[in-house]
Amino acid sequence: MQQLSRYHLDMTKSLIVATRNHHKVEEIRAMLPHANVCDLSAVPDAPHVEETGSTFLENATLKALAISALTEELVLADDSGLEVDCLNGEPGVYSSRYAGEDGNDDLNNKKLLQELEGQEDRGARFRCVLVLAQKGEVLADFSGAVEGRILTKRSGEGGFGYDPLFAPEGSCESFAELGEDVKNSMSHRAEALNKMNSWITEFLK
Ligand code: IMP
Repeated sequence: MQQLSRYHLDMTKSLIVATRNHHKVEEIRAMLPHANVCDLSAVPDAPHVEETGSTFLENATLKALAISALTEELVLADDSGLEVDCLNGEPGVYSSRYAGEDGNDDLNNKKLLQELEGQEDRGARFRCVLVLAQKGEVLADFSGAVEGRILTKRSGEGGFGYDPLFAPEGSCESFAELGEDVKNSMSHRAEALNKMNSWITEFLK
């Protein structure tokens, strides 16, 4: 990571979220009400970035660097996923592609339920790594996690991805049932964003 200086972080700019997942953009926008959060349409000709890394940090860094090289604005990349204990941490960085390259949330959830059929140990966590970059250079990274377990059937209509199957610790309801406000108060993404906010506040002192 580069040496930080005030010059490198210009908060008067927009914050471009380097993802085509509009759910992630909406969650980040809701959790950063005072920032001008933009999606990738702010970067004309933004390339599809292959997620070739073996960790969330590597993949988030790949996305942050590729997009921030094309704009003067601040770029925030989010790489996240679900780790299931009895699957040795799978699907992990392959969460979005669990049911194959042409899969989708529905097929991913179906596959997860099949893999866990009859399984008692259903412990799992969501992880999120955020990388903040500007003009092709990484400024900082932040991580968050939320512990929970995988339900035996989908419940709820909210959220995205594995939310209908994931109940955070202390709840018997899924993130999809608990709704946006509750999820955003305790999620892996919320923890990483809170760390980023503290870092920015400290940095701008
Ligand atoms: P990425 O775009 O490579 O970071 O893939 C993230 C994938 O992880 C998503 O497509 C979801 O399957 C899963 N995921 C990450 N965060 C969440 C979340 O907040 N709720 C549900 N699923 C999530």
